[in-house]
Amino acid sequence: MRLKMVESDAESIRLELEGVPTSLGNAIRRAVINEVPCMAVEEVLVIENTSPLPNEILAHRISLIPFISDIDSYNFPEECSCNSRLGCDRCVVRYVLRAEAGETPVTVYSRDLIPEKPNTKVVPVNGDIPIVILPPGERVEMELYVRVGRGMKHAKWQAGLASLYEEDGRQYLYVESFGFLPVKRMLLEAVKIVRRRVAELGERLDEAVANAK
Ligand SMILES: [Zn+2]
Repeated sequence: MRLKMVESDAESIRLELEGVPTSLGNAIRRAVINEVPCMAVEEVLVIENTSPLPNEILAHRISLIPFISDIDSYNFPEECSCNSRLGCDRCVVRYVLRAEAGETPVTVYSRDLIPEKPNTKVVPVNGDIPIVILPPGERVEMELYVRVGRGMKHAKWQAGLASLYEEDGRQYLYVESFGFLPVKRMLLEAVKIVRRRVAELGERLDEAVANAK
């Protein structure tokens, strides 16, 4: 089995796989898309919204903003020991959005989301993502709850994309990050997930064989 880094930059990696079973390459590809944890707005509490967008559409737009994800410090809410729906400091990052248009329309951007803790590392990947245009006199006020999730639960937590393909008889794995995590970390997380699953399968097999004796 041999791996060769063909291309690598901040957002993407292209690897040539030699002697790697396609099923294994494919398992890694699927883990990148569906299972690598990252952080996005899971819940929105609308306090006021007189913008032209209904609450659901506004909440959906906000949920699609990728956040730089601190997956070493934050737990999946369903696995956190707080067992609380509102969450704790280990499973939620709270934000507020307050914006109002005066006499001229105002475009609200991702940079207008204000974290409860100013020093948080969990911030929108890009501050220039437009959320809504407020006509004169209109306003929005909401609370946002950013949590860890996986792409298999909702596409807003899809950390990036990955493809496995053949060219000139060689097999390549291409992985690209949407900005939640550095691309190398994403790939390593995917490999960790596959490895854990194979280990689990091994344990179950051992049990099954032992029970069959
Ligand atoms: Zn918690």
